[in-house]
Amino acid sequence: MSLFTVNAMRQAKGMKLSLSNGLFSNLSLNGNFAAVKQLGFRNIEFNMKAIRKEHDRDVYREQKALADSGLNCLSLHSAILHVKDPIEVHQAVYYGKISLECARALGVSLMTVHSNVSKKLPRSLRERCLKEIFNDEITPFAKKLGIKLSLENLSYMSTGFGKNVEQLEEVLSVIDDGTMGITFDLCHSLETKETDNLLEKYGRRVYNVHMANKAHKRFTEPKPELTNFLSKLHDYGYNGPITLELAHDTSMEEIAKSKALFDNLLRQF
Ligand SMILES: [Zn+2]
Repeated sequence: MSLFTVNAMRQAKGMKLSLSNGLFSNLSLNGNFAAVKQLGFRNIEFNMKAIRKEHDRDVYREQKALADSGLNCLSLHSAILHVKDPIEVHQAVYYGKISLECARALGVSLMTVHSNVSKKLPRSLRERCLKEIFNDEITPFAKKLGIKLSLENLSYMSTGFGKNVEQLEEVLSVIDDGTMGITFDLCHSLETKETDNLLEKYGRRVYNVHMANKAHKRFTEPKPELTNFLSKLHDYGYNGPITLELAHDTSMEEIAKSKALFDNLLRQF
């Protein structure tokens, strides 16, 4: 076996660099994918923010644009409503289901979700809303389509509920039937100072990683909080996407530098 083949196999097994296309949400879909390709990325997380809400049948347009781009879509970030009142449940369900339809059209088997409940929703109503959104609607629909759901840890700045182990455990105790994965957002866990706690609790069930420094700024160098995080993930056997999720004002040059940094770093994993 040639060295090239061995390296290619190792890369295929390791963590995969991906880019959230949410940061190009002001571009048309074709322009969005073109920007991703121009930067040299092969993998994307499709963020539903990239779609202007028009019509359910738009999923076919998304499907064609992705096929034309030749990009690999590794995951999809659901459209989300953090409900503040049970009257909004139907809308959160719609967002979740149209996102699942889009994931199916794009051939994606992993969808990142938030808890879909606002941190302002009274505790007495959280369980009811979580059940109505997930257990009654989104989870069975995801099962039917063969799409795995992955719950993201949020930041204290988010309007949603689920920023630390205690809150995520409350959510999971209602919605998890044993199949729910975790989307580990490093930016959020650095902001809430929960990185170690979250890793210890969920390291073995991470299915997707959102990668950025605080405030969704890019990492400019391999700082210890970054390399330690990647090493620990590696030790837990993680070999899924490392999805760069960067602020809207990140320039193309800065994204390219970030890609170079991670191309280099991920060779070790
Ligand atoms: Zn995220």
